[in-house]
Amino acid sequence: MRNKTCLPVFLFTFIAATVGAHAQQSLDAMIDRDLASMVATYKTLHAAPELSHHEEKTAAFFANQLRAMGYAVTERIGKYEKAEWTGYGVVAVMKNGAGPTVLVRTELDALPVDEKTGLPYASKVKTKNDLGQDVSVMHACGHDIHITNMLGTAKMLSELKEKWGGTLIILGQPAEETIDGARAMLRDGIYERFPKPDYTIALHDDANLPAGTVGYTPGYTLASSTSVDIKIRGLGGHGSKPDATKDPIVVAAQVVMALQTIVSRENSPFDPAVVTVGSIHGGTRYNIIPDEVNLQLTVRAYKEEVRQKLLAAIERITKGIALAAGIPNDRAPKVKVSETEITAATYNDPQLTERLAAVFVKALGANNVVKVAPAMASEDFGYLSLDQKIPSTDFWLGAVDPARVKESKETGTPLPSLHSALFQPLPEPTLRTGIKAMTSAVLDLMKK
Ligand SMILES: [Zn+2]
Ligand SMILES: [Zn+2]
Repeated sequence: MRNKTCLPVFLFTFIAATVGAHAQQSLDAMIDRDLASMVATYKTLHAAPELSHHEEKTAAFFANQLRAMGYAVTERIGKYEKAEWTGYGVVAVMKNGAGPTVLVRTELDALPVDEKTGLPYASKVKTKNDLGQDVSVMHACGHDIHITNMLGTAKMLSELKEKWGGTLIILGQPAEETIDGARAMLRDGIYERFPKPDYTIALHDDANLPAGTVGYTPGYTLASSTSVDIKIRGLGGHGSKPDATKDPIVVAAQVVMALQTIVSRENSPFDPAVVTVGSIHGGTRYNIIPDEVNLQLTVRAYKEEVRQKLLAAIERITKGIALAAGIPNDRAPKVKVSETEITAATYNDPQLTERLAAVFVKALGANNVVKVAPAMASEDFGYLSLDQKIPSTDFWLGAVDPARVKESKETGTPLPSLHSALFQPLPEPTLRTGIKAMTSAVLDLMKK
């Protein structure tokens, strides 16, 4: 009997003492207490990356950790166009009385990159990609930093419940690198099955900013991305007899050059835009004029009307050049805008972004918060804001050893970029800063 009554009393006292201690403890002390275990988690994740659409173990680990912290966790969320892919999305909800609903997102996937950092915890994972080819896998975009950062933030907030009110949603998103994960989760009804957020927040590690700092960009921060396939069809024949052919290689060469005039001559200089031909394939031998040449393009813009204008110009120019070359109508080029390899621009709500920048200044010091210029890179976080209807912001987390940043500035040698086999975040200060910044941001939006 004594034991039975004694144990709950002891437990209650222990929990009460812990909660009381948390209330007094600074966030710094709480993060320091957990940092060694967070770094260990990061290294474990780093050594075990999984490709987009295959984040099974990563998602299960993430879900289990959140469940242990007291979150209501739902797994296997996401419906892709390809029915054979499982959606490994995770949604973890913590309801804590009245207040706003805030969604914080991390990606879960890694890249087909053969890691060359030489770190003791470097990935040695090899697998087959969806085409059946052997590939190495690496967290070369630092999504392992994001996952660990999210777990740290989730833990801090689960222990600081007396300081915030509302509904907190932790979202683990698969397939960011293939830019179809956020849409797959929306298609699976996340905003109907779970509370719809008033704000969405994310961070991304930065391969140029030193660890210990964060960066923010009000307004457009990342561009929309659209993949375009062009098939230029000619009339093939012998390389010695061009007069009997319509040479698609010459047409393709003219098209590649003419496409460069869209941004320089047709687009307003005040609207950033990119048209890149990333792939060109045609022909088999020296002396054969082929029947067709295939091009692959990426098109970047911030505004939707600019994107539409670029796409229309690509089609018009390609078809016009083929026409001028005398290619018959039934062999006109085929210009196909991808419906799946596309993503919306990421727009950081200026008011929310400035508000959180002020929170970061308070938490990290003004010297450690920098305004960063927008980039034409892309990601699919923007979809979660439902066409900018939900105020949203995606901020940068400095991840590089400050000594390496200094050396790079002095020598002019660029640092390894995101997706590089040499990308190497410095775990401890990066995680400390990220967890503090993200926790402070959520506490500000949900403060009692
Ligand atoms: Zn990436
Ligand atoms: Zn990334």
